[in-house]
Amino acid sequence: MYMVLLGPPGAGKGTQAKLMEERLRVRHVSTGDLLRSAIREGTALGMTAKRFMDRGELVPDELVIDMISARLHDEDCRAGAMLDGFPRTVPQARALEELLGNEGLRLDHVVSLTVPEEELLRRATGRRTCSECGAMCHLVFNPPMRQGLCNRCGGVLFQREDDREQTVRARLEVYEKRTAPLREYYRDRHLLREVDGIGPTDEVLRRILVQLDVCR
Ligand code: AMP
Repeated sequence: MYMVLLGPPGAGKGTQAKLMEERLRVRHVSTGDLLRSAIREGTALGMTAKRFMDRGELVPDELVIDMISARLHDEDCRAGAMLDGFPRTVPQARALEELLGNEGLRLDHVVSLTVPEEELLRRATGRRTCSECGAMCHLVFNPPMRQGLCNRCGGVLFQREDDREQTVRARLEVYEKRTAPLREYYRDRHLLREVDGIGPTDEVLRRILVQLDVCR
């Protein structure tokens, strides 16, 4: 099963994708995570990507398309993948269609998580990331037990550059302009399923699974 999770930054795509990976046994592939690990490793891609990510802008299509193409050819994505954060532009969506088409495959579902802007700002600006293990927590929804330290490994927490309010606002604008048109794109292809992203995590998961016809 190949599936796309669409939604603005802070909509909960990553959280839901991780839960669905367990539930549906489909590999979770996040372009944001892949880019952040390229940055940690100091690769040429990472260094270029960081300049765009720190400003809340999109990394150029050709770089992201090459990266995802390589990832989808990995053995663990042969049976399917749940794409989180890709595609983010119409050219990326076309490239994905072509990539899958070349292997005789196609996209099965596109789920779009909808969350109002003020809620997105509240969610994103409270998010903190561990400098050691990369785990995320939230000052309001999942606060650290010891101030400033990761609940999982005790590493020092920091606010990602792209979670700062000014950057989040820039990312939301970019989303509206460049990514929101994908809803239309996938609606025209009868693939789009819109899901309300407000509410407890397991309730949002249930709504998604109902849309996928996996649970009732
Ligand atoms: P995310 O973790 O999905 O919110 O992504 C973090 C940042 O990585 C985004 O704000 C973009 O700068 C970059 N990024 C992730 N996925 C893509 C993509 N498909 N196209 C372009 N840039 C991306």
